[in-house]
Amino acid sequence: MATGVRLEGVSKSFGEVRAVDEVNLEVAPGELFFLLGPSGCGKTTILRLIAGFYRPDRGRVFFGERDVTNLPPHKRNTAMVFQNYALWPHMTVWENVAYGLEVRKVGGKELRERVEEILEIVRMSDYADRFPGQLSGGQQQRVALARALVVEPEVVLLDEPLSNLDAKLRLEMREEIRRIHEQVGRTMIYVTHDQKEALSMADRLAVVDSGRVMQVGTPREVYSRPGSRKVAEFIGEGNFLTGKVRKLGESVEVETEVGTLTSCTFPEGLFLGREVQVMVRPEALKVGADGDNLLEGKVERVMYLGDTEQYFVRLEDGTVWKVVEAHPRVRRAEVGERVKISCEPEDVIVLGS
Ligand code: ATP
Repeated sequence: MATGVRLEGVSKSFGEVRAVDEVNLEVAPGELFFLLGPSGCGKTTILRLIAGFYRPDRGRVFFGERDVTNLPPHKRNTAMVFQNYALWPHMTVWENVAYGLEVRKVGGKELRERVEEILEIVRMSDYADRFPGQLSGGQQQRVALARALVVEPEVVLLDEPLSNLDAKLRLEMREEIRRIHEQVGRTMIYVTHDQKEALSMADRLAVVDSGRVMQVGTPREVYSRPGSRKVAEFIGEGNFLTGKVRKLGESVEVETEVGTLTSCTFPEGLFLGREVQVMVRPEALKVGADGDNLLEGKVERVMYLGDTEQYFVRLEDGTVWKVVEAHPRVRRAEVGERVKISCEPEDVIVLGS
């Protein structure tokens, strides 16, 4: 029943602003797929192009093998969930959820059963007679989800659905939406600027920047193998150095001003002498260890946070690298001390751009 979605070379401009620029995307049937990117990068516009609220200037949109590029929204069988819930305030929970079915001329026993079933799935059966004003934000979002799902859409589109909730509820709803997704098995495309939300929930995600898709992959792939500095900086934190490729084989050696780094993670198209950037995540580094990939510097600042301790180390060339030690029983170095920092070759990422 689930339908995949494919965008082929889709572009959309508003006057001078190219909001979506040559986007190619393939979302598998039944996938919980995320569009992740900073504010204004074009995520919502991509969602609206899929819903049919906008027609692309160029390119095509497919649901399965069906070309829907020229179909109006009401013929696409999608449902949307918004940040502000958009429930009818004068209707009860039950009426809000039933409304979409009534519009589709579903009535009687079938309507009753479908509304009951979906309220059960979102765990709102006990609130069927309440009005939206009598519900918490999380409960209203559950009703909005029920209203979207009850019409059995081919694709569910969610635009920052958790942004209005407080931090604790947001965490709870992340798990709830994942559970509901697994239970109903529908294709869901979810827009957010919150990387933790995307990493913790997505089957796969696309990182979007300036209207372009920068990288697509599972959360683990995108976090541990970012293809570019932009992606590495947008998802998580990174320490960077520029250097030249000096040795190329099963691993790569990159000579930088402050030392040579060996990496087992590198893109295609490298050649000896090529200038590249290397990136190491703060949590992949260790202070004071005698391991691989040693760099030397002076501790500039230390921050104890209970579960982690952060060291800011100024390297010989002036760059400051951040090291995050988990479970810090003891302080490994004091401010002003010269230290060595190190990491495994698996954790040195050579970036393509
Ligand atoms: P946010 O997270 O802030 O909602 P977004 O990533 O969803 O951002 P979009 O809303 O898709 O970004 O906007 C992309 C670009 O297109 C922005 O520069 C925005 O100002 C512009 N834009 C979006 N919709 C319109 C419109 N209807 N008319 C003119 N410009 C628009």
